[in-house]
Amino acid sequence: MSIPAAREKFRSFLTQKGLRVTSQRLAIFEAAFAQPEHFTAEQLVDFARAIDDSVSRATIYRTLPIMTESALLREVDIGSGEKFYRPNAGTPNAQVAQVVCVDCDKIFEISAPFMEWYGSTVSTKLGLTPISQRLQVSAHCDAFRRAGSCPRRT
Ligand SMILES: [Zn+2]
Repeated sequence: MSIPAAREKFRSFLTQKGLRVTSQRLAIFEAAFAQPEHFTAEQLVDFARAIDDSVSRATIYRTLPIMTESALLREVDIGSGEKFYRPNAGTPNAQVAQVVCVDCDKIFEISAPFMEWYGSTVSTKLGLTPISQRLQVSAHCDAFRRAGSCPRRT
């Protein structure tokens, strides 16, 4: 899905929810879709305010669930207490697995089409229909452990 297509989807989803398409909400959308990396809600506050300083924290926290519900954003929970978000620019329902580097605080997402196959295979054997599944790998960074620094560490 291209950014213009995603923006259209966002507009129609807001309308569908009986919410107005405000410049603040659009600023949140633009800020989220401009991010190359995963971001937290608090980071999105800063990004969105850089576009429109009238964006309130409350609006961000109300808009995020709308964006995840409409599958525009993917919510990533790595068990750190804070949730991360990422635009679903590609196919919204694509199976992805996360590899989390605990040394560098970096989240990698890799496509994992086998996951869907595996989940449905083992579920079927049990007479069950899968609803959702996820694969998350926690990892150490070899470069960081070896050299004490990592080019990916921010
Ligand atoms: Zn690293």
